[in-house]
Amino acid sequence: MAMKTEFKAESKRLLELMINSIYTQKEIFLRELISNASDAIDKIYYKALTDDSLTFEKDNYYIKVSADKESRTLRVADTGIGMTKEELENNLGVIAKSGSFAFKNENELKDGHDIIGQFGVGFYSAFMVADTVTVLTKALGSDTAYKWESEGADGYTIETVEKDEVGTEIILKIKENTEDENYDEFLEDYRLRSIIKKYSDFIRYPIKMDVKVNAASEDDKEAVDATEVQTVNSMVPIWRKNKSELTDEDYENFYQEKHYGFDKPLKYIHIKVDGTLRYNAILYIPENMPFDYYSKEYEKGLELYSNGVLIMNKCADLLPDYFSFVKGMVDSEDLSLNISREMLQHDRQLKQIAKNIKNKIKSELVKLMKDDREKYQKFYESFGRTLKFGIQSDFGMNKEDLQDLLMFYSSKEKKLVSLDEYVAGMPEEQKYIYYATGESYKRIAKLPQTELVADKGYEILFFTEDIDEFAIKTLMKYKDKEFKSVSSGDLGIEEDADEKAKSEEERSENKELFAAMKEVLGGKVTDVRVSKRLKSHPVCLTAEGEVSIEMEKILQAQGL
Ligand code: ADP
Ligand code: MG
Repeated sequence: MAMKTEFKAESKRLLELMINSIYTQKEIFLRELISNASDAIDKIYYKALTDDSLTFEKDNYYIKVSADKESRTLRVADTGIGMTKEELENNLGVIAKSGSFAFKNENELKDGHDIIGQFGVGFYSAFMVADTVTVLTKALGSDTAYKWESEGADGYTIETVEKDEVGTEIILKIKENTEDENYDEFLEDYRLRSIIKKYSDFIRYPIKMDVKVNAASEDDKEAVDATEVQTVNSMVPIWRKNKSELTDEDYENFYQEKHYGFDKPLKYIHIKVDGTLRYNAILYIPENMPFDYYSKEYEKGLELYSNGVLIMNKCADLLPDYFSFVKGMVDSEDLSLNISREMLQHDRQLKQIAKNIKNKIKSELVKLMKDDREKYQKFYESFGRTLKFGIQSDFGMNKEDLQDLLMFYSSKEKKLVSLDEYVAGMPEEQKYIYYATGESYKRIAKLPQTELVADKGYEILFFTEDIDEFAIKTLMKYKDKEFKSVSSGDLGIEEDADEKAKSEEERSENKELFAAMKEVLGGKVTDVRVSKRLKSHPVCLTAEGEVSIEMEKILQAQGL
């Protein structure tokens, strides 16, 4: 018996947590094991690019999946790079440690490959369906093979073993069925095939299975079933396929397979461009805000491939900051494989692709706003703030791109409306787009400053975020209509002749009273005036210049 090594304490908990919470569907264990196998083959491919003593004959590399009902075992074998004893200990003994992630990092900037692994948890999903997981592995360039075995949270054993070929074989002892869980299905060939098709169809190496073929005709009683090795996956990457061949599910699976997020994508965009500039891209708008989105750690960017080969994990130049939430990949035939990060920044092709992508994201978002307001609203709740910052940043350079994506709460509609909708609903004599600023919709609704505008029947946009007013100050106007705060001195609402005369009268009558009030307030106000804007409130504050009272508060808080 080999000696048992304990998992570290926190690993135990992590393993349980993971098994019970990260993955909602048991069947994805197969996707994870196959992705690891594909990564292992990619690593040989990568090594062969730089090591002359290695050749990479594509035909020698494959993944094989086979089930045996009698022994309740499922095997996933690969002819990949294998693992040394140290690698077994480091990569399979420490949960959330990814050898593949380290591999990618070490080889960054160079022509890496389509390596999927990065979180170091996928392997353990095998314990969702297996009581025991055995790993037989022989590393490239090593004489010794090892057997790693574990029954889950208790720990693992490692011993030497006989194995001729370089590569790895994962053997799962599939759990017995329970009253409410079926595990037998993972020993059925047709079920395994469909899981492979669903999640791993575009893995670039053949995934082989033994398939029973009835060789004899029906009346031949002596006939024996023969088996034939078949390749189950189509190996064509999803982004090369025609959109008509793909379902929503395919795109969702790709999102998960690529670990773009743990949520479901809110929307996907598949771009195929075939002209002087050729590229394929699949982009996603996530449903939820990534947990680190507003932190410094969050890195924007798209995966960049050159002709199917990954050259960069997060190419930041492909996305403007205001679309930093977009996930996905771009594959272009026209980019050189060994292009460096510095060269990429100046690459004209890449700049053009980035511009196309930006326009496409924008137009798709506008479409979403029109066609599926509920979805758009969900998107806007997560990322609206980013769009507003986008308007304000770079001296308003991007305002044309972003203004149509904005929404604000409307006093009339009692929901978010776009600026376009606001302007469309303006009565002819209304000159400005009115807004009011405050902590919450409720509080704004009670502001005395809103009374006259509301009384006129004009819609008021409620601004509750710090950034709101800064953003529209950058916009200045929308469709030739200027923005106006309800607390600004001149609301642009005309008084008729009668009213004018009346105010004039009040003004001169109360001249001394106002002067006295101003005196008492001692420089805290610039003037005290008669106002037409009040209906039920006796008094309110208004701002004279460009800066509203709310904005002044923010500027003061920032020490400006
Ligand atoms: P990830 O794939 O995100 O890195 P996993 O838990 O799936 O995390 O795998 C952990 C690590 O174990 C991998 O990064 C890799 O170094 C190693 N590994 C897993 N399966 C294989 C395999 N079939 N061949 C070689 N190495 C493997
Ligand atoms: Mg993995």
